[in-house]
Amino acid sequence: MDLTKLTAHELKDMLKNKEVKAQEITKAYLDNINSIDEKLGAYLHVAEEEAMGKALEVDKKIEKGEALKKLSGIPVGIKDNISVRGMQNTCASKILRGYVSPYDAHVTERIKDEDGIILGKLNMDEFAMGSSNENSSVKLVKNPWDLTRVPGGSSGGSVASVAGCESALSLGTDTGGSVRQPASLCGVVGLKPTYGRISRSGVVAFGSTLDQVGPIGKDVEDCALLTQSISGLDSKDFTTANIQVPDYSKSLTKDLRGKKIGIPKEYFGEGLNDGVRKSVEEAIKVLKDNGAEVESCSLPLSDYALSAYYIISSAEASSNLARFDGIRYGHRTKDFKNSNEIYMKSRSEGFGDEVKRRIMLGTYVLSAGYYDAYYKKALKVRKLIKDDFSRVFKEFDAIVSPTSPTTAFKIGEKTDDVMSMYLSDIYTVPVSVAGVPAISVPCGMVEGLPVGLQIIGDYFKEDKLFNIAYSYEQSTDFHKMRAEIK
Ligand code: GLN
Repeated sequence: MDLTKLTAHELKDMLKNKEVKAQEITKAYLDNINSIDEKLGAYLHVAEEEAMGKALEVDKKIEKGEALKKLSGIPVGIKDNISVRGMQNTCASKILRGYVSPYDAHVTERIKDEDGIILGKLNMDEFAMGSSNENSSVKLVKNPWDLTRVPGGSSGGSVASVAGCESALSLGTDTGGSVRQPASLCGVVGLKPTYGRISRSGVVAFGSTLDQVGPIGKDVEDCALLTQSISGLDSKDFTTANIQVPDYSKSLTKDLRGKKIGIPKEYFGEGLNDGVRKSVEEAIKVLKDNGAEVESCSLPLSDYALSAYYIISSAEASSNLARFDGIRYGHRTKDFKNSNEIYMKSRSEGFGDEVKRRIMLGTYVLSAGYYDAYYKKALKVRKLIKDDFSRVFKEFDAIVSPTSPTTAFKIGEKTDDVMSMYLSDIYTVPVSVAGVPAISVPCGMVEGLPVGLQIIGDYFKEDKLFNIAYSYEQSTDFHKMRAEIK
């Protein structure tokens, strides 16, 4: 049996029944990484020794008869912008090459406490800016379903590692769609939680009012398990909410009677690929068959979300990235005459083109004279978008849409057309701007490539998302498909 093809919850059952050891599971994953990651490019760092050491520790606990914890013996990959003590944390940027984190992020601590096995650090778009993973300064990540295509971004490594069976679970980050869009393109389940549900402490900031850590798994149960393990209040992140985290396993039921689902017409317009549209329409029928009441609804302000998002996220990025100046943090140029030259040359050498574009845009919209016209205006639009969602959630339990307008595109296809790249996130960005949660689940295959269904919920209603997503899975088989890497 190939252990890497199983879900985390299946592995947990086997561990509980003593049918397998954590060391065997970990070894199977490490072997798979060694044999295919050269093709896939998902990992930037593999922590073989640490992983095997932790697996041994878990096996000893099980032998002693200790009860299994939530993630006992489950191999987890971590995006390279989330701190793991003693491992690199480079955000796939030249400016942080060689940087090793001296502490654990809150989410990392939680995974370790739950006896998860950390396999290593995953490739990404530089500083999480991108939709295709082509902005990594290290190497490309390939889509496990077709190695000539992108996995999506920015959490391309996190998602490809799960889809390619190089990790059982993984963590990504989602600022405007970076967990959901690649999850859709690679056929796995990815959640962007409500802003404030999961701590950001120890996570390198991109757009602080938008960033969230997102759990990724092969199916909904796995995604819920990882979400459960890392959610909740953290004294080190004052934006985390003091709201009870429900037991998500209770939401994993098939019955949708009494649930009202809205279909926003704005999310089915121009630019949506026909195959994707058909798959999503089929999925909506399944939800109806399982008892949900489905009706159309409208989110007219979503049209302005992308513009507001690029102003707000770039403004915050320009401020957050100011610390990488060659003095306090990051690469320092070799040849300089004064401190100004240190800043200029270190940053010019260290940052890639996309990051520079965001810094320039962000600095511009925050500068005197333009602040009111752009930044302040964008914040007002953001408020209206929030109100739009809140209005719809008075009537509906959830909203359903495509996650991405297309399936995975070819490597290089959009690199010269920034606007078409930014449009990949057209359906995910409004959710981020509003701060509500959304999950992407596999809902079809078009010409051999996965399609994702996005289910959006009201603030802190992740349990409803898991319920609807799980119900859908129970009636379909897309989550059971595994990519064959050739
Ligand atoms: N693709 C979007 C961007 O480039 C979203 C990125 C993200 O969610 N981290 O900003």
